[in-house]
Amino acid sequence: MTDVTFVKDKHIQYVIEQDSHRSFEYWLSEHLRMNGLYWGITTLATINSLDALPKAEVIDFILSCWDDKSGGFGSFPKHDSHILSTLSALQVLRIYDNELTMISSEKRTKLVKFIKELQLPDGSFQGDRFGEVDTRFVYTAISALSLLDELTKEIADPAVDFIMKCRNFDGSFGMVPGAESHAAQVFVCVGTLAITDNLHLINQDIKLASWLSERQVLPSGGFNGRPEKLPDVCYSWWVLSSLAILNKKHWVDLEKLEGFILSAQDLKEGGISDRPDNATDIYHTCFGITGLSLIDWKKYNFKEIDPIYCMPVEVTKNFKKWKNLSS
Ligand SMILES: [Zn+2]
Repeated sequence: MTDVTFVKDKHIQYVIEQDSHRSFEYWLSEHLRMNGLYWGITTLATINSLDALPKAEVIDFILSCWDDKSGGFGSFPKHDSHILSTLSALQVLRIYDNELTMISSEKRTKLVKFIKELQLPDGSFQGDRFGEVDTRFVYTAISALSLLDELTKEIADPAVDFIMKCRNFDGSFGMVPGAESHAAQVFVCVGTLAITDNLHLINQDIKLASWLSERQVLPSGGFNGRPEKLPDVCYSWWVLSSLAILNKKHWVDLEKLEGFILSAQDLKEGGISDRPDNATDIYHTCFGITGLSLIDWKKYNFKEIDPIYCMPVEVTKNFKKWKNLSS
């Protein structure tokens, strides 16, 4: 099945050139630039090639996206803060500098305030002050506070109540209470429960792991995000990370999944697409490669990826997770 090789050097080149293409699509994607940077840096960190991008320039770009008015990071200089770009900024900074020394205590205080003020009375989080609510933002906020070592029960408990309200009869999770089950929402909900030490709320029930393992589509071996949909490389991450957190990776055929991810590589130009023969992008490149890390990081000489935070374990092992209230 897995006779296609992993073209590491092409992928490195692909990530480096993201920034130099200066294509029309590139400039259209300003609102995703910080997320794109996280996907690129995570790709390089996972394949042990973080040095391929200039650290000082990356950090300068991130710091230039600080929005002092609201106290978070935007996706691009002069853009308003959003919780998604704030998490991406913190993830990249912490990959480079575990102590987050480039964030002053004044900025840190503002960041915590920005994130906490996005929480609504029902425990959910908005992405920004414009009010869209999604379980994605709950995970993003909880993960960001955890990265800052600023997570407290007072924030976590209502957030977990909200997550459990988004659970469906099939054991899976949706975007908001009553919304259709979707694999990416499963990751954010299971991730939130894992960060806040609440996996016991779902662990006794095998319905969720069954639903996740049914996402594997044969004969390709790739995962889909919902029943009846085509397989897509990014679900290699959303589904397999959730199964990894639940200790059920062995419920799927990992070799077939590996073959599917490898077959979606562009062997000439580097990069990975959503499915074989489609155009590559940095998002699917990142989640294909982090998926391969979950499958067998040693075989590829990758870094081991943390299924909860989607960051290298060597970084996340230092997280204190909860705020030390006595200090
Ligand atoms: Zn996808």
